[in-house]
Amino acid sequence: MLGQMMRQELTISSLIAHAARYHGDGEVVSVETDGSLYRSDWAGVELRARKLASALENRGIEAGDRVATIAWNNMRHLEIYFGVAGAGMICHTINPRLFPEQLVYIINHAEDKVLFLDKTFLPVAAKLGEHLKTVKHIVLMGAHDEEAAQMVPGLLFYDDLIAEGSDDYAWPHVDENAPSSLCYTSGTTGNPKGVLYTHRSTVLHSIGGNQPDGLAISASDSVMPVVPMFHVNAWGVPYIAAGTGCKLVLPGPGLDGESLVKLIDGEQVTLALGVPTIWLGLLQALEKAGSTAPSLERTVVGGSACPPSMIQTFREKYNVTLIHAWGMTETSPLGTLNNLLKKHDTLSVADQNKIREGQGRPPYGVELRIVDEEGHILPQDGTSQGELQIRGHWIVDSYFKVEKTALTMDGWFDTGDVATIDPNGYMIIRDRSKDIIKSGGEWISTVELENIAIGHPAVANAAAIAARHEKWDERPVVVVLPHAGQTVTEEEILAFYDGKIAKWQIPDKVIFVDALPLGGTGKVLKNKLREQFGDVLIDG
Ligand code: ADP
Repeated sequence: MLGQMMRQELTISSLIAHAARYHGDGEVVSVETDGSLYRSDWAGVELRARKLASALENRGIEAGDRVATIAWNNMRHLEIYFGVAGAGMICHTINPRLFPEQLVYIINHAEDKVLFLDKTFLPVAAKLGEHLKTVKHIVLMGAHDEEAAQMVPGLLFYDDLIAEGSDDYAWPHVDENAPSSLCYTSGTTGNPKGVLYTHRSTVLHSIGGNQPDGLAISASDSVMPVVPMFHVNAWGVPYIAAGTGCKLVLPGPGLDGESLVKLIDGEQVTLALGVPTIWLGLLQALEKAGSTAPSLERTVVGGSACPPSMIQTFREKYNVTLIHAWGMTETSPLGTLNNLLKKHDTLSVADQNKIREGQGRPPYGVELRIVDEEGHILPQDGTSQGELQIRGHWIVDSYFKVEKTALTMDGWFDTGDVATIDPNGYMIIRDRSKDIIKSGGEWISTVELENIAIGHPAVANAAAIAARHEKWDERPVVVVLPHAGQTVTEEEILAFYDGKIAKWQIPDKVIFVDALPLGGTGKVLKNKLREQFGDVLIDG
């Protein structure tokens, strides 16, 4: 027997249709690639998304075809998100900071038919041109531009496409299990792998991840995703924003602290989301500008471990609650979010902050477990440490164009992270399996070593790596980036570890650098550091 309720597909077009119908005049603000501010609203985004869908169809692009973007967080990118998926095509967001060979690999592997580009990335396209096997149209995301037209033969212009699209275009019926977007993992090791999201997984992620104990975005928020739209769909924020009708502020190319402070104050941003490196820059800029960012209520930090000192600074100096979150491309990405429980009401602020340092708990829709090297399930006692596995409505099943399942025999996805889970379900990432330091058979958490170093007032950022060691196999080395204009010595950093961790866990060496190598999503590239400094304890 079946139930007797209406069946409606969970589609991305239903999100943007809701935004237009019930929040039509809700503001959407975008910093354009030339730095100017462009203002629209949800009705405007929906109309232009439909016109774009119609123009693409008229040019022979069909449901299931991949349409790629190499773009900043801006209005046109948002319209492409909804126009492409709404029409049943697949929005393939590409990280512009990849090496040219990786870009070529990804575009050919995805068999992209159309490539949308912000002007910043035009020189990249000009170079890739002949290597792209499937791309029929390259579209510059802007108005007609003669200089650009000279650079790329046959170049189309976004604003012309919108002008040719029809106002009457209606969103087609799309199966909720059809693919909606495609994102490749950044491929720090090996070739990047594609994760193909469905309409259903995206809508469920938008609902599940936005519960009151999750992102909790409402129509009264002004939300700024600093996390790029090419990085796991900006953590799903564009879809959640449409589903809630909140004000959306897209920061464009200016991701430095100063530009962000200006935008937060100018657009009364209440919630901002991004990786820790971005917030390190923002905190410095706030300090310099003497702004207290009075509108800002919450900030969501994820993508790599959030240094505990950041939670405290946001709370004490700016009255901002920092929500630490964990996820990955394969998990859409929201896997855990850190909010407190009723039973934590009576704890001191310091104890509450301590809980907030972890990566948090799963929202409805995902489950976590930890297992040992043989795959035995470990207790969730807060101390047993093992491989983190996940399953749920918005977790990958297999990679794009790979038939083999990506799951364990019993249907869980192995994250490659090493974690503990406590009896209340709070998960703490201790390391990435490939980054972990194994000294004399004992594990040392690089995350912990970094958090302590970043807590030192003279330190802007730090990365701990395993260096080869004759006796212990591996020993920790910490690579430190001091704040501009500040000096600090190796002895001072090492002394700062005293009493905070066991003596044998204290790094053997501190290396000072002017810059840390960052990957496309702002994470420190530890493999690069290991290449550079992996032998410092042997050479010397
Ligand atoms: P990659 O960096 O491999 O391209 P993702 O961008 O999907 O892939 O990053 C996922 C990984 O980032 C996770 O497996 C985890 O190691 C790390 N990560 C994400 N959020 C956090 C966090 N809050 N704390 C620590 N590590 C995190």
